[in-house]
Amino acid sequence: MTKEKNDKMEKIVALCKRRGFVFQGSEIYGGLSGTWDYGHYGSILAHNIKQLWWKHFVEEREEMFGLTSTTLMPEAVWRASGHLDGFSDPMVECGTCHHRFRADQLTLEDREKKICPDDGGPLGTEQQYNLMLPVVLGAVAGKSNKAYLRGEIAQAMFVNFKNYIDTMHPDLPFGIAQIGKAYRNEIAPRDFLFRVREFDLMEFEYFIRESDWEKYFELWRVEMGKWIERVGITKELVHEIEVGAEDRAHYSKKTIDFEFDYPFGQKELYGLAYRTDYDLKKHGAESGVDLSFFDEQKKERFIPHVIEPSFGHGRTLLAVLLSAYKEDEMNGEVRTYLALKPSIAPVKVAVFPLLKNKPDLVAKAREVFGMLKKEINAIEFDDNGNIGKRYRRQDEIGTPLCVTVDFDTLTDNTVTLRDRDTGKQTRIQITDLLQSIKSKI
Ligand code: ATP
Repeated sequence: MTKEKNDKMEKIVALCKRRGFVFQGSEIYGGLSGTWDYGHYGSILAHNIKQLWWKHFVEEREEMFGLTSTTLMPEAVWRASGHLDGFSDPMVECGTCHHRFRADQLTLEDREKKICPDDGGPLGTEQQYNLMLPVVLGAVAGKSNKAYLRGEIAQAMFVNFKNYIDTMHPDLPFGIAQIGKAYRNEIAPRDFLFRVREFDLMEFEYFIRESDWEKYFELWRVEMGKWIERVGITKELVHEIEVGAEDRAHYSKKTIDFEFDYPFGQKELYGLAYRTDYDLKKHGAESGVDLSFFDEQKKERFIPHVIEPSFGHGRTLLAVLLSAYKEDEMNGEVRTYLALKPSIAPVKVAVFPLLKNKPDLVAKAREVFGMLKKEINAIEFDDNGNIGKRYRRQDEIGTPLCVTVDFDTLTDNTVTLRDRDTGKQTRIQITDLLQSIKSKI
């Protein structure tokens, strides 16, 4: 990694901590590796991304249904899906420092020479390491109580398939969408939100006739590209890579990875997989429940095939931050700001009195704030520190617009409206303010 790229990652992590976006999980106890907590602005940004995703892929369509399923599922589910046997990564361990590595992520040289990248010790033989996280349920620890925290959210869509046929009576194609937690016992969590052990997935299973799979694979490939632009990920940093048969997941007949240019390398952001009828068939056979679909018009019964677009939520947030992070020069100083799309920005507008210790200004600013808050929820009142500091803070949070009440406001009822990206301020009548803001966010 070049120094410049390394710096960018460090700057993002530092900004996230400084401004209350993301903190290391259980930090005061030294931190738990592969876990991150979202602070105030991070929570809102995370929520806004989920909401926008739901709007894009569920609400704006007619053939999508929502699901919220549990994160605990019994062993039988994971046996049927193939995860207990096949959901693993190749692992090697150093004989001296005992650090563990994903064999496929070592440099070719370290891998061939079998040398530990941390202390140069000898690396042991490669073993398959299962990523599923087991839990024991109930007071008696026995085989029948064994469950797993889900390694992917898709299995719940398959396990609930019959419930959707019976309650929604859908025609093909239709999708079952869900946003929720997944857990993976990653060998080496790293790179901030990129590789963690607990993360949200945004995903749907799209049920189709087998003969249509290429058509719908292409449709979702294009839609994923539209989403990438809509959420504010720089399109030029995303690359579609078809995954070779030897690297595909056990259930997939065709996979495209959407890779992003992270500072630490070009790596997976999203996946698009043609899962065939693998999962429904397996669950049908293992559970003994008929998971077929009956086509009323053609009078045929068959197991639908599935296209699965999969979106890691944390990786989305990271790619959004990396795309939005900007530095420029303003008033002779380096300025940092997040050029977030207004649709996902945690704060849409901030309102300031020019000075905190002038009651007239504060009262007027409060009045403007109250007027705007009736119509805009994500709005903040800020009178901390000097005005320059407040602009810098809002720039780093990614607030698209700032309104400042100054002495002129008291005589002519105008305020300044400042644009985050250009730093340009325009004077505007308070009576026109709401409409002007609405046209910009
Ligand atoms: P990788 O090769 O990076 O381990 P994967 O191919 O195992 O990823 P999938 O099983 O396709 O990933 O998971 C779907 C999506 O979940 C990925 O596209 C990614 O966005 C996200 N994801 C997977 N593993 C992690 C993780 N450990 N931390 C954060 N997000 C993850």
